[in-house]
Amino acid sequence: RAKRDGRDAARFFDCAMAEEAERRHGLRRSLASALEQAELSLRFQPLRRLSDDRVTGFEALLRWFPEGQDAVPPTEFIPLAEESGAIIPIGEWVLREACKAAALWPDDVRVAVNLSPVQFRSPRLLAAVREALADASLAPNRLELEVTESVLLQEDQANLDILCRLRDLGVRIVLDDFGTGYSSLAYLLRAPFDKIKVDRSFVAGLPDRRESRAIVRAIGGLGLSLGIAVTAEGVETEAQLRAVAEKGCSEAQGSLIGFPMTAREAGALLTGLRRVA
Ligand code: C2E
Ligand code: MG
Ligand code: MG
Ligand code: MG
Repeated sequence: RAKRDGRDAARFFDCAMAEEAERRHGLRRSLASALEQAELSLRFQPLRRLSDDRVTGFEALLRWFPEGQDAVPPTEFIPLAEESGAIIPIGEWVLREACKAAALWPDDVRVAVNLSPVQFRSPRLLAAVREALADASLAPNRLELEVTESVLLQEDQANLDILCRLRDLGVRIVLDDFGTGYSSLAYLLRAPFDKIKVDRSFVAGLPDRRESRAIVRAIGGLGLSLGIAVTAEGVETEAQLRAVAEKGCSEAQGSLIGFPMTAREAGALLTGLRRVA
């Protein structure tokens, strides 16, 4: 009986794995045409400066609504797009759309775009950024490019050079999800970052967890002493907002401030027609 159960369990797992592989394969195939089918869309999540509670910018977040299916979250389809290379044209589309949206906002409001490490291997990256800015007539200092530590993981000079050249265009470079990677702090700080974002896993532990408090305080202090902005991601409660402000963060993002919204809603928020939570 035990043997039989074991065999059934094994068969069950084989089937589940085969189904999952099949699903990923199907997703990867439909992702290839998602751009032409206009199934991709951007949402914009507000960032609030803590010194005066003003919305200083929005982060562009990619959404995929495949025809006849439920929305697929970016944490699931971006790795697939990275594997297949589709992230290159998709990433260029995100840059263009985000710049176009920001061009309609007041001059002191920025837009942040996430860059995949795979985009760094594309020789087109610099031209794509330059073209997106020019096409939208957007001042470069209104574009922030978010990269994670993985971009600098192998301590490679090539990616560091690309970051410096991007920054020479006048755009701002942001270190995203800080604290989750494995790079050395000394090395990271050689890169030309204008802002650090504290990963939301640390904010989630506020205000109760001692380790979370220590980490957020350390990153906030780093920002203060380096003279660069620190954004707390994933702020969901008033208590977290107070805690991150107290620990030196200068900006907050998260459901308490506002959920990701359409470009039109973002525009309305800025003109005061609507308010977020
Ligand atoms: P990220 O860059 O760290 O973006 C922040 C993520 O946290 C977003 O998830 C956002 O919706 C979520 N978030 C914001 N506030 C809260 C909160 O208060 N609570 C919780 N639980 N979550 C919150 P999303 O939109 O699912 O994106 C996930 C990741 O996918 C992003 O993480 C980013 O790494 C990647 N991504 C999204 N859009 C793009 C893109 O256009 N290009 C690339 N390369 N990556 C993207
Ligand atoms: Mg980001
Ligand atoms: Mg982030
Ligand atoms: Mg994150």
